[in-house]
Amino acid sequence: MLSIEEALQKLLSAAHPVDTHEWLPLALAQGRILATPLVSRVSVPPLDNSAMDGYAVRCSEWAKDHLFPVSQRIPAGRLGTDLAPGSVARIFTGAPVPPNADAIVMQEDCVVEGDHIRITRQPGLGDHIRRASEDFATGQVILSAGTRLGPAQIGLAAAAGAAILQVIRPLKVAVFFTGDELKAPGEALGPGQIYNSNRATLTALLHQIGCLVVDLGDVPDTLDATITALQQATASADVIVTSGGVSVGEEDHVKAALTQLGRLDMWKVAMKPGKPLAFGRIGEADFLGLPGNPVSAFVVFCLFARPFLQARMGMLPGHLTTFTIAAGFDKPKFGNRREFMRARIENGQAILYPNQSSGALSSLAWAEGLVDIPAETPIKCGDRVQYIPLASLLS
Ligand code: AMP
Ligand code: MG
Repeated sequence: MLSIEEALQKLLSAAHPVDTHEWLPLALAQGRILATPLVSRVSVPPLDNSAMDGYAVRCSEWAKDHLFPVSQRIPAGRLGTDLAPGSVARIFTGAPVPPNADAIVMQEDCVVEGDHIRITRQPGLGDHIRRASEDFATGQVILSAGTRLGPAQIGLAAAAGAAILQVIRPLKVAVFFTGDELKAPGEALGPGQIYNSNRATLTALLHQIGCLVVDLGDVPDTLDATITALQQATASADVIVTSGGVSVGEEDHVKAALTQLGRLDMWKVAMKPGKPLAFGRIGEADFLGLPGNPVSAFVVFCLFARPFLQARMGMLPGHLTTFTIAAGFDKPKFGNRREFMRARIENGQAILYPNQSSGALSSLAWAEGLVDIPAETPIKCGDRVQYIPLASLLS
């Protein structure tokens, strides 16, 4: 069996980023991956400017109870003139500091007396001045290639004057779901049939990371049907993701079909839920076969498919946020696989959903995180355990 790290390393080393780019206006760039470094065409701030509403002063002229005439008024978006000796300038947040002023006094530290002011607190050089270029400067790389564009990055691009961004084209992911027992929600169930939930879960997971989903639907458990589905998928996608049919049972045809059409590695990853992970290639498409059990499919997607697809999308490697927390449960039984248990935090402790079956989707819908328990490790209430917030797997 492979460790999770070994399996992930093998996957990532085979992930070649898409190299086709397109230009998008900022309003359409949310969630996309920047293709080339973004270089600013301006400096921000463009000039030294005031961080406060107040008065621009020369520090050396300050004296307690001295009355200063106000020689000019500078709102944001206007340039002042040389600060006349012995005077102060009324100034507002964001307005350029006038030449010869060396500090801003906030208006709360001033007393207005007619058209003069008294400054009640001695100013220090540079007080409340935001320096030109202190955020970033003309010519500076402000976003690296491979950055995922969220609200903050798009805002930064706008601040730098970029109206359009060069992004990587979306990754096309074909999906299909093996299993004679599967029916679509809305259809009537026959005896022994179940609704296909992986289709809904995986489609949502793929959309969340910005993939275009080509949905080939349910595929019966026959070799012919599996081969046809794989051929269709190869013709339309960069990556094929499937669920089910990757075990070695008589009803599992993915392995045989892939071996005929391309090449396949079957990995046993030492994890629970999960374990079987199929990775291969047909023609120009990568293939990822996830387990059929809904919780296993979800966890394997998050730990393997997601970082693989993000690397294929040209995204810079991310990291998983985890932290330790006290276990609010006992788990005397342990196994030889690392285990991910559906959990929540209550009163500063991780508590577990009672049914940890890899088929029980209610556990995932309830959970806010996964407790990550190493192999061969019994847990006693109060022990420190590793906790992975689901948000860090889904954001
Ligand atoms: P398999 O990997 O095909 O042996 O499937 C393992 C288990 O997951 C079986 O109980 C299947 O019925 C179930 N399963 C497989 N595919 C799906 C799916 N798309 N939605 C819900 N359950 C599934
Ligand atoms: Mg099956």
